[in-house]
Amino acid sequence: MSVWAILAAAGTGERLGLDRPKAFAPLNDRPLVTEPIERLDASEWIEGIVIAAPPGWEEPCILVAEEVAAGKVAKAVTGGETRAESVRAALAEVPDEATVVLVHDAARPLITDEVVERVIAALPDGWDGAVPTLPIADTVKRVDGESVAETLDRETLVTAQTPQAFVAPALRGAFSTLQDSGTKSTDCASLVEGNGGRVRAVEGDPRLLKVTTPADLELVASWL
Ligand code: C5P
Repeated sequence: MSVWAILAAAGTGERLGLDRPKAFAPLNDRPLVTEPIERLDASEWIEGIVIAAPPGWEEPCILVAEEVAAGKVAKAVTGGETRAESVRAALAEVPDEATVVLVHDAARPLITDEVVERVIAALPDGWDGAVPTLPIADTVKRVDGESVAETLDRETLVTAQTPQAFVAPALRGAFSTLQDSGTKSTDCASLVEGNGGRVRAVEGDPRLLKVTTPADLELVASWL
């Protein structure tokens, strides 16, 4: 098995209110993207890494990788306007020999080898992909403007995180048939599902919190 990782790091991170992309927000005095690069590089599961960088920040991503001696980083490609477009650009640089592709959000810095192992180990038995999930504690409602339209059964609902692991042909297949509407999808599993793939839900990790606001950044820094 040859596992390659794609690190989606091309988001703007407007809600952090900084003068630079989210990947370069300071997390305990280092650019945020340093943490997931270092952790993915240290994982015995992973053979190579392709970063989708914010436009104009490809070189700084490579410099960060060099600073932490992350030798598995093969390339930093220019990200797209949406997450799916960024992942598509990175996937084009993943070598054909890769049998499994792991896609991870740089905005979830605290990736662990346990969760990497969990999603990869979930793939045999004919699954096309595996995603870390968390149960929902709150009651979930569908709303139409201010009006509550429906209360959903939270027992059958989970939130999905990254890293998400995919059998390489299933992920490549999903991107090769990607329609315009799919480019707005917020994770890769939805593309594989939409292409008829079977995606398995495994246990996630609350510390894989996605940094969106300054408070998230502080919280993740406190966990480091
Ligand atoms: O925007 P959001 O926080 O949902 O993004 C999730 C992940 O996708 C982040 O790590 C972000 O850097 C990445 N992303 C990307 N290219 C985009 C938008 C988001 O790589 N155009």
